[in-house]
Amino acid sequence: MLSEEFWPLLARLHGHRCPMSIMGARLGYAAAARLGRHREKGDVTATYMNRNCAIDGVMLALGTTPGNGNLKIEAKGLNLLEAVNDESGLRFRLTLTEGALALGRRYGELRRAQAGEEEREEILVRLQIAPEEEVVEVSELPGGACCRRMDR
Ligand SMILES: [Zn+2]
Repeated sequence: MLSEEFWPLLARLHGHRCPMSIMGARLGYAAAARLGRHREKGDVTATYMNRNCAIDGVMLALGTTPGNGNLKIEAKGLNLLEAVNDESGLRFRLTLTEGALALGRRYGELRRAQAGEEEREEILVRLQIAPEEEVVEVSELPGGACCRRMDR
């Protein structure tokens, strides 16, 4: 599980607490749990298919960043993360569940109405602590190190 220091650090990096930055962290952490965080068990590279708050969560949880060139952002409007460990060749595709996205939408409605401060906080905490399967859908992708090498 993500450490206690993680969430305040994410809020500091990102500038505010919000559902998408938290969901991004859940995506990144789900990837790290399977591939290792970048440089823990080899080099990890990832692509995130949207330009939104989730990017900062992915960066902090998975250790891949645009700055060091191993987090690519493709603005395709999809909340989809693909991550690969170049050493093991393991590849995963991670998306957000409908339930998690519904919580994010509910948060947005409340915020726009400047209402439900307590409910908004509950949504953020729930997204942080919910079991992985409530927030993230994970599938392993075929074609490991062998196929990547052929691409080069
Ligand atoms: Zn945000």
